Amino acid sequence: MSDARSVKSSNSGFRSLKDKLRSTFGRRSVDETNSPRRKSSTGENVPPGRRSLQRSSLDSRQGPNQNPAFKTQAERIKEARETGPKIDKQTGELRDDTLILHSLAHDSFDTVTEILNKYELDPNRKPGEPQIASLSPQLWIRITEHLGLVDRACLSIASKTLLDRVGSSYLNTLSHPENKEYRLSFLHRVEDQLPNHLFCFVCNKYHLRTIKGQEKLKPASVLNPLFNCPNATNNLMPQPRLRIATGRTLPFNFVQLALKGKKYGPGYGLDATTMTRLWREQDEPRWIHSSRYFVFKGHLLMRVQSTCYTKGGLTPAAERMLLYSREDYQPYFSVCAHWRDGLLMNICKCALTHLPVPPEKSLHEGLAKVAGRRVSQGAIITLCSNCRPMRRCPACPTEYLVEVKLAEDRSEKDPMKLFKHAIVVTRWSDLGDGSSPNSPEWAAVTGAIDNYDSISTIGTRAVSGTFESQTADTGPGQRILNLNPKDEHKGEEGHDWY
Ligand SMILES: [Zn+2]
Ligand SMILES: [Zn+2]
Ligand SMILES: [Zn+2]
Repeated sequence: MSDARSVKSSNSGFRSLKDKLRSTFGRRSVDETNSPRRKSSTGENVPPGRRSLQRSSLDSRQGPNQNPAFKTQAERIKEARETGPKIDKQTGELRDDTLILHSLAHDSFDTVTEILNKYELDPNRKPGEPQIASLSPQLWIRITEHLGLVDRACLSIASKTLLDRVGSSYLNTLSHPENKEYRLSFLHRVEDQLPNHLFCFVCNKYHLRTIKGQEKLKPASVLNPLFNCPNATNNLMPQPRLRIATGRTLPFNFVQLALKGKKYGPGYGLDATTMTRLWREQDEPRWIHSSRYFVFKGHLLMRVQSTCYTKGGLTPAAERMLLYSREDYQPYFSVCAHWRDGLLMNICKCALTHLPVPPEKSLHEGLAKVAGRRVSQGAIITLCSNCRPMRRCPACPTEYLVEVKLAEDRSEKDPMKLFKHAIVVTRWSDLGDGSSPNSPEWAAVTGAIDNYDSISTIGTRAVSGTFESQTADTGPGQRILNLNPKDEHKGEEGHDWY
């Protein structure tokens, strides 16, 4: 006992106890006293005031597998919170680095989650209407003076008490025709409460979705109304839409549906992957198109890949017949509004020149026929530094890649001609956040605005790279150059595009 008394003078209860036990039981740790074999000895040796240790030995009886020497982080934090910072029995130091940092920084042992929980809204909390009503209308008017028109209108419809205090004058102001933009912004904010409605940008109001959940992207020639709009037949006020290819468009309503579906759930719109389409054109040269959509960080991204089987050695007229639709005088493949400016059509024509010339047109036609052998089809075609890189339109978030490769034509009956050379033009576009046709990306892609600088806005993370990284496909792995390096905007006046 004289040993024990001398240790007690070190002002550490646990330390004295531990040393006492160690002197009694050799080098075993204090925690081992929890083993059933040691209970009687602890019961004898521990003074009546050492309740904590007695309790822990009682706890150990409940679960034989519990070993207090190995505590989880949660248990240590819990223990630290109950008893304050503890000194390590062995070293005399604070036990936990996290606890040390927290105690230095916050002077408390509350974790961030605990602090947040303190301020979490109590579901049983009484309504705050009396507190809102306790402030005078004059004071509320003063508060709203610091808000914008849309925020004022939102505040006034937040509750009946607020409407009484703030008044409905802001809602009336919003309905003025000159406040169209503010009204749009206000209505956009309440879209999470309107799963059955879709905003009509022609009427500037919400319409009820008449075929909710059954909306399908259809060719432009098929009537496909999603709601009953009084301006549906008004040719002067068409619904905003984007040309994808000949006879195919993407109405802006589908951009809304895809983004609302992703943001609020399937009841609000569509899954963007259900808008994937694959079609082959009816007229020669029968281009094949495949379109895919994908929502990334609240923006709808689109990829349209257009393929056409072709041969080398085309004349300039044949190249035009291959590339341009006679229906709408635009390329067969999908393009942004700026396709005439820049190098896009030249790149396509350059890529076509790299195709191997068919044997009947080559200089060795006769020789090949006499020898009775097939002339090499040129399975691997190398493009030049002009047509190989990807190109980004500087005026909108659109990127292009032109490839010429061997592709399988499944409609071909002759097995000897199954693989053919094809030109493949892939276009990636960011179609914006669906808030309005005036959103920068949609407006730039459709050519409504001319102040969009895609080179600085998109930066190094390409639309194509973002799109391909989300699907299982591998990226094209080409560097990206400016589609319009000379920054010429001649449109139809230029001569290079045709
Ligand atoms: Zn309408
Ligand atoms: Zn080339
Ligand atoms: Zn463009």
